[in-house]
Amino acid sequence: MTTEKENSSLASSVIWTPTTIQEALAKKKEFGADACFISGGTLLQLQWENGNKVPKHLISLQLIQKMQGIEVERDHDCKVLSIGALSTLATCQNHSLVTMERKLLSEAVKHIAAPAVRNQATIGGNIAGRSGDVIPALLVMDAEVSLCNKVSSLKKSVWSWLKDKEDQQDDLLTQVHLPINEQERNMHYFYKKIGRREAFTAAIVTVAGSMSLNELGELDHVRLAVGGGDNLPHRLEATERLFKGEKLSTVTWKEVYSSILKEFLPTTDAFLSADYRKKVAAHIIISELQELVFPSLK
Ligand SMILES: Cc1cc2nc3c(=O)[nH]c(=O)nc-3n(C[C@H](O)[C@H](O)[C@H](O)COP(=O)(O)OP(=O)(O)OC[C@H]3O[C@@H](n4cnc5c(N)ncnc54)[C@H](O)[C@@H]3O)c2cc1C
Repeated sequence: MTTEKENSSLASSVIWTPTTIQEALAKKKEFGADACFISGGTLLQLQWENGNKVPKHLISLQLIQKMQGIEVERDHDCKVLSIGALSTLATCQNHSLVTMERKLLSEAVKHIAAPAVRNQATIGGNIAGRSGDVIPALLVMDAEVSLCNKVSSLKKSVWSWLKDKEDQQDDLLTQVHLPINEQERNMHYFYKKIGRREAFTAAIVTVAGSMSLNELGELDHVRLAVGGGDNLPHRLEATERLFKGEKLSTVTWKEVYSSILKEFLPTTDAFLSADYRKKVAAHIIISELQELVFPSLK
């Protein structure tokens, strides 16, 4: 049942509280650009404080049961950790299935905001905001998202969803899926958020990576991703290709460094240049990869 009530702090907005995905989509269809979905509201709150217009209609997703919960499911031969989009960042950090099966997510979330924000903010909102610090970690885990809009529902990789230039304002992100297969057990991962101080800080850059070695000792699955702050998260696909079929002893690190500088196009602001962010990202990625390759460097 959809209920309507006046919002006292956002006096001119109406908050809708649908209890099903279909009701939420129907409200979005009814009000179009005058409405937006709201989960934890923590990113929207920042945007409104920065002068963005508060929409006339807010469609709260909080009561939709189907977007809650974390469980391991089977998708053909593969096990998948499925996370409801309404799961808070605190839940993603501490849930036993996440810490057991996909520790990198728990690690990434730990670096986002402060505990009070993580208790309210959701993983769906972090992704849908398109610049969340969790996205680089999801990219290197080959995560997928379930999306619903007024005409269809589908599952696609986070990477293709980010690359999709179509207007996705009406898409409702309902779940996040992380594969857990046998190969995953042999994967090595890293995640680093670099800020101006150790904690409670916006990112200068966020980097993540994953790699595995095949039985011939060749790198056969390297994923590298960047993001953080106002930098749009993306994979470094050209740099990833430099590792394909290489043995650890044959990787040309200088080439990797130059490729990251070329492929990562971060923002410049009043405090830090794009050039500085590129170099930070390249140094961190190389040092983290080398630690994975040669653990004795730690
Ligand atoms: C003090 C403070 C510090 C912060 N620090 C960080 C940080 O370090 N790193 C970081 O990444 N973020 C940070 N944030 C931003 C924010 O907390 C996170 O990005 C959070 O995960 C957003 O989730 P939310 O549920 O609050 O999203 P909301 O604010 O509810 O929504 C964010 C956007 O996503 C859309 N949306 C929400 N849910 C869905 C859905 N299921 N389907 C489709 N669209 C949806 C909304 O319409 C909106 O456009 C910070 C915020 C605050 C207030």
